[in-house]
Amino acid sequence: MEPHFQSERAQLPRNMIENSMFEEEPDVVDLAKEPRLHPLEPDEVEYEPHSSRLLVRGLGEHDLEDDEEDYESSARLLGMSFMNRSSNHRNNMSEAYNREASGGPCSVPSARTVLVGAFVVVIILSIAMVVYFLPKCTFTKEGCHKKNTTLTFVYPLATNGQVFPWPKIRLSNAVVPIHYDLALHPNLTTMNFTGFVQISLQVNEDTNNITLHSVGLRITKATITPEATSQPKDVQVLEYPPHQQIAVKLNPVLSRGEKYILNLEYSANLSDNFSGFYKSSYQDKNKKRILAATQFEPFAARNAFPCFDEPAFKATFSIKITRDADHISLSNMQKDTTTPVDNGLYQDTFIESVNMSTYLVAFIVADLKNVSQATASGTLVSVYAVPDKMDQLHYALDTAVKLLKFYEGYFNISYPLQKLDLVAIPDFEAGAMENWGLITFREIALLYREETASILDKQIVTMVIAHELAHQWFGNLVTMEWWNDLWLNEGFATFMEYFSLEKIFPELQVGDRFLHTRFRAMEKDSMNLSHPLSTPVKTDEQIEEMFDSISYEKGASILLMLKNFLTETVFQQGIVRYLNEHQYGNAKNEDLWNSIAKVKSIDLNMKEMMKTWTLQTGFPVVTVKLDTTANKIHLSQERFLRISILQDPSSSPDSSYLWHIPLTYITSSCSNYSQPKCIKTWLLKNKTDTIDLKEPNVTWVKFNLNMSGYYIVHYEENTSKELIGLLKNNHLALSPQDRADFINNAFMLASAGKISVRKALSVTEYMKNESSTAPITETLLQLRHIYRLVQKRGMLLLAARMKKYIFDIFGGLIDQQTWSNNGSLSERQLRSILLDLACDYNYGNCVRDANELFTKWKDAKDFSLQPSDLTTTICSVGARNVEGWKFILEMYHYLQSAAEKRKILMAMAKSNNAQHLIWLMYESLQHGVIRTQELPSILAASSRSLVGYLFAWDFVKENWDNLVKKFHLGSFSIQIIIIETTSQFSTKSHLSEVQTFFDSLTDKSSQLRTVQEALEIIRLNIQWMDKNLKNLEMWL
Ligand SMILES: [Zn+2]
Repeated sequence: MEPHFQSERAQLPRNMIENSMFEEEPDVVDLAKEPRLHPLEPDEVEYEPHSSRLLVRGLGEHDLEDDEEDYESSARLLGMSFMNRSSNHRNNMSEAYNREASGGPCSVPSARTVLVGAFVVVIILSIAMVVYFLPKCTFTKEGCHKKNTTLTFVYPLATNGQVFPWPKIRLSNAVVPIHYDLALHPNLTTMNFTGFVQISLQVNEDTNNITLHSVGLRITKATITPEATSQPKDVQVLEYPPHQQIAVKLNPVLSRGEKYILNLEYSANLSDNFSGFYKSSYQDKNKKRILAATQFEPFAARNAFPCFDEPAFKATFSIKITRDADHISLSNMQKDTTTPVDNGLYQDTFIESVNMSTYLVAFIVADLKNVSQATASGTLVSVYAVPDKMDQLHYALDTAVKLLKFYEGYFNISYPLQKLDLVAIPDFEAGAMENWGLITFREIALLYREETASILDKQIVTMVIAHELAHQWFGNLVTMEWWNDLWLNEGFATFMEYFSLEKIFPELQVGDRFLHTRFRAMEKDSMNLSHPLSTPVKTDEQIEEMFDSISYEKGASILLMLKNFLTETVFQQGIVRYLNEHQYGNAKNEDLWNSIAKVKSIDLNMKEMMKTWTLQTGFPVVTVKLDTTANKIHLSQERFLRISILQDPSSSPDSSYLWHIPLTYITSSCSNYSQPKCIKTWLLKNKTDTIDLKEPNVTWVKFNLNMSGYYIVHYEENTSKELIGLLKNNHLALSPQDRADFINNAFMLASAGKISVRKALSVTEYMKNESSTAPITETLLQLRHIYRLVQKRGMLLLAARMKKYIFDIFGGLIDQQTWSNNGSLSERQLRSILLDLACDYNYGNCVRDANELFTKWKDAKDFSLQPSDLTTTICSVGARNVEGWKFILEMYHYLQSAAEKRKILMAMAKSNNAQHLIWLMYESLQHGVIRTQELPSILAASSRSLVGYLFAWDFVKENWDNLVKKFHLGSFSIQIIIIETTSQFSTKSHLSEVQTFFDSLTDKSSQLRTVQEALEIIRLNIQWMDKNLKNLEMWL
């Protein structure tokens, strides 16, 4: 899956740390206000300024209730693994605990029995305590977690009051699915569907129950057919909604080695949100058209059919779909036959699938149109969209065909299906989803029209297609065994999207974007609450939260580092081996390292090295000291952590962290970074180390070339001075990516308190000479972030000085920009960033020029705003008055290009008019003119502005219940909403306000990792302000 993009620059939260030495009057929010009603028209919004007091509710308590926790703790306490015990034993235990749970009659034991029993229990408990606590404390870095331990296994009760036969969230391996025959009939008028599934089962262990997943399905008939007799027998289905499971209890027990078919008939409603089997709609000429599509990852297949909905339960699928004559149906495999059935309907039958996980199953019923092309190896590639957008499909088709060919060659494994469909769905939460053979996309991530698209639109469409096609191997062919190793799917797909583009679309210059991906990953990963790439997960919310920057961006970053360490050839051989060894199966983290290690000539240190990157939280900072006298480089490493003192006064980086870091560096004596002979390597495996330089008179060193390693470098005072001097005198001695890296590292180090903010700012002083996109983008991100925080603390004079500094540096470069689409991608991207900055801050003639272009657009008849790279900038100026804003909204109705719509929507969301912002938020929430899928981006954009950020937070509080209904708790949409609407806060009042809000909720929100991250970001902001504001004032 690919998360959706938030803006042209795809900024996930960049949460630097913030502000003030003084107790400033904080920004304040009036929590007592009533929720606003959704207005019909933007102008009808009633603007109510925020009051001047912050009202803080009392802190709430949240209960950590979790039956599963209790159950697992109990099992550990008894020193046994329930899952591994024989089914007979389990059945006996089950009966015993059922009796206890139901409080049934029992005989009275003798006193002696009681005494002996008590003694035995004490002994068992003592041993178990030792077993339980010792390893936990000895082998984990996270310390010992206090668990609520109990000796009682509690089997839950099903909805009908009977005992449900399976107590765990994860399913048993006793019975596993082999094949599903699934027949569905969605009715797009009544918005419900009926289904019939026949699941062929294999019994691995004797058992008295079959437990599988199902949620929201009304099961109307259930039978089981033993393969031996072929005689179906009615069975009762029990439901346990908290675990989204159903179960069939059987007597006599199913025996190991036998095969059965479980037959279930059911009905359900099409889903109202973006997951399961859900409905979507669009306007076709004058008619509203409905379609139904699926989104199952990570665990919503169970909303469409009863199934064993875990990635390791792979099976084959034969799917039939009944539809109207004016719809088509699509599924993973190609259609085999179409048969007329009753009432003028047709049933499409698809051929049997390959062995695959449930989350990759997909089907669509709609009236979509397509273009198709066969690849040289015989796969039929088709791109589908709603009929009015047929003219936007050809770029995706051409790109998909090229990428499929590239991957088949690179992985040396043919794409195994006969067809590959790429489908744009009007309502879609993610960017795209890699369903095998039927990839679904948000329209903006697939459709492309040259005339109205910006250069970055093309880059994004190409990257998303590359990501999803890579998944056809990484994820679909070889699947992670459980969601704890999601990074094996997402890290690889993210890495391959950059890698493949560099190989076959070099003109799209993805290098800078990948660099910023690494910066972003490290920003999140430098927080106390980060997690290892491979992290245990159990609950739905924990699984949802794995779809984060760590799995995607850190995953991709460490693969880049590994590729450079191994060489490109060995890396490729290793992953080809991994895919071959695990195809159609599942894999774990260590399987990847084992496969790569088998490639000839690989240093076995690789496995040890990669464990330090995947099993430890965070990443290292390497301190570098160049000793020019002795001609040595002294190195040391520790975990890089931005510590929040307010949170934990005693916290400091844990000294037990150690990484095996493949260092790269150049020195002044051979400084040509494009010459391989100048690039030196060093594997730092210890806390400290020393490099003896062979070449004499080295005056400077630069480590982590092109920032291709996942670590930060802290140059000791004199070593750093030399590099800053080099930037001032001859910045071209370092590559653009190295310059961006040096700037990024300086601000990161300042945020961790390792250097002063003045020193970090001094690195930007050379910027007047800079013209490359990567270092300029990074500098602007850092400076604008500080600017926004200062501005939101109401320190307008300081903000003005900050703004002046920004234009002192970049004014000359901005003055050189023209309003055009000319140049390379990098030049066009830079122009777009600089002019956006200039107009936002009313610099020079930007607003005047943009207004002229906006007026020209309004008066034009062809409705194509040019230059298309600058659509958002031009419209954001046009939207500054009510008339212009209304015109843009009209155009939003009218335009057919998803990319163009998106750009003008983002311009509207930059408005300085509070009524307009609030209208956008509610209109999107209610799925009006603006689709709900746009809401996270609208909130993110509003949160960046001084006018909008408090309203955005108010909106989140007032509509929280609705938000988590539309987007699941823990989903990346919710992650974005929480982080973006709170990361602008830098006062204790706001910290308390955010904490109080989440604590007051009765759902599991306060337990989300994202909520804890949001709180940590605010603490870090407060700390940064306390520490650096004075320095900033002095420096400016
Ligand atoms: Zn993905």
